[in-house]
Amino acid sequence: MQKHGCSYDPRTQATVVNKRKAADDNTLVAEKKRRKVLETQNARLLMEQQQWQQQQQTARDLEQKLESLKECGICNRSYTLSDERCPRQLQCGHTLTCCHTCMNEMLSNGDLCKTLRGVSHLPCPFCRKVTKVKQAEELNKDFTVLALLD
Ligand SMILES: [Zn+2]
Ligand SMILES: [Zn+2]
Repeated sequence: MQKHGCSYDPRTQATVVNKRKAADDNTLVAEKKRRKVLETQNARLLMEQQQWQQQQQTARDLEQKLESLKECGICNRSYTLSDERCPRQLQCGHTLTCCHTCMNEMLSNGDLCKTLRGVSHLPCPFCRKVTKVKQAEELNKDFTVLALLD
């Protein structure tokens, strides 16, 4: 910088202009670098946001799935520890997605099972193994499903 009161000197002036130009160039380069860094950061943030949204979606899906496991697939009532509203395990170890009461209804109306001499033959929808039972109370409660209840 010129000191106050200095006489005009073209060489000094030229140096000052060159210095300024150089400084401007440096600023431009720095600005470009800064912009590039910001763009990279933006891209990363966007990616992280997308990942986060996907995780949120997965969490919501799991929560929904979990909620659906906690209720009877036929009457849609929540399972309880009570004899009437608990899920029952078939003899193969699978659990029908319905409550005790709905299972008894199914056994008595014979829609999904054959009844021979008062004994229902209920095929498992998962492995086809037949469970022979008269009443749902003969089957074990599914405590794994019950453990999901709040
Ligand atoms: Zn039910
Ligand atoms: Zn089964």
